[in-house]
Amino acid sequence: MNQKTSNALDYIALEEKYGAYNYHPMPVVLEKGEGVFVWDVEGKWYYDFLSSYSSVNQWNSHPEIINALKEQAKKITLTSLDFYNHQISVYEKRITEHFGFDKVLPMNTGAEAVEISLKLCRKWGYEKKNICGNQSLIIVCKNNFHGRTSGIISFSSDSQAYAHYGPYMPGFLSIPYDDSRALEEALGRYPNVAGFLLEPIQGEAGVIVPQSGYLKECQRLCKADNVLLIADEVQTGIGHTGKMLACDYEGIQVDVLILGKTLSGGVYPISEALAKVLANDAIMEVIRPGQHGSTFGGNSLACAVALTALNVIEKEQLAENARILDEFFREEMQKFIQEYSIIKSVRGKGLLNALVVNSPEESELAWKICLDLKLKGLLAKPMHSNIIHLAPPLTITKAQLIECAYLFLKAVF
Ligand SMILES: *Cc1c(COP(=O)(O)O)cnc(C)c1O
Repeated sequence: MNQKTSNALDYIALEEKYGAYNYHPMPVVLEKGEGVFVWDVEGKWYYDFLSSYSSVNQWNSHPEIINALKEQAKKITLTSLDFYNHQISVYEKRITEHFGFDKVLPMNTGAEAVEISLKLCRKWGYEKKNICGNQSLIIVCKNNFHGRTSGIISFSSDSQAYAHYGPYMPGFLSIPYDDSRALEEALGRYPNVAGFLLEPIQGEAGVIVPQSGYLKECQRLCKADNVLLIADEVQTGIGHTGKMLACDYEGIQVDVLILGKTLSGGVYPISEALAKVLANDAIMEVIRPGQHGSTFGGNSLACAVALTALNVIEKEQLAENARILDEFFREEMQKFIQEYSIIKSVRGKGLLNALVVNSPEESELAWKICLDLKLKGLLAKPMHSNIIHLAPPLTITKAQLIECAYLFLKAVF
């Protein structure tokens, strides 16, 4: 065993000894990233097919974004929002105009942005819709993933996320995803609904793409009942599905939009996300000074990084690249699926896809395939025991995707 190999094992041993065991990582220790590639401490490179859950869409350590980070860090990093800072103003104008909203409330992680959306929705329900005190209801979807706070996991249907964290927060009603009839029935039954929260594509559930027309119908139903439609685009937003927002496929504009992950190109904060909540004036105005806040939310460094990250997405036409490669990648994968029964299907939109392995839910097959892919030079992550998440940075080229499809072939068969 050479020096470098023992380093990798040492790092893994240290992490296992001192880190909380809340993830089950692949046995690879990464130390560098560039473009669609990452390198481990032994100098071996891999295609990055996780992109930190679609956070490094602009590519790993994009030079322009890193430069913005460095330049801003030299000047000032954090002012608190008790003072104005010159970065937040420019950034807020840019992001609200870009997505066609009036106001933005900057936070740090995806889960925090979801939390503030729920608070906003409830407060709006009491102050604008006149729902009686503490009676507000928010409809959510089964198999959702919106983050890990105590409030959010209260309406998770994933027993791993939910079990033994009670007592749970009341006020949520869970209905099946991709079922507008269920939404219609719930809205008909409960007059005290303030909002409907959904992912336009359910990412963590295994990249579940709803039928076309579903989002539009949800919008129609919500509008008719004066219920806020809240889209969590933390994973689907900013290009990964081939449009800036997954909601753009149906031409809808939701009442509250939640963004995170790739908003900073995976550069800041270290935990990977900078979250935004965008909402129309009438909604956002229910929040007044002192009623919500965050020490790091909207800090100068975050705003400088996020502004540049958005510019990079536009300048390099990364959403367009995801759209151009949309069908292509699934077609390449489909070639193998037809010939071999080990993979059941491939599904997704743009460059956000998943492979469904033909095995029972509790099997280890997806994990084993990912270990094999790692040996072949591609890092992907099993999401559930039978689903593999495929989300390369949006800078990937057609030729690289062909090579990756070939690596899958070699790994699986
Ligand atoms: C990742 C994710 C979140 C949570 O974001 P964090 O930054 O991990 O808190 C929320 N919603 C969706 C759809 C996500 O994919």
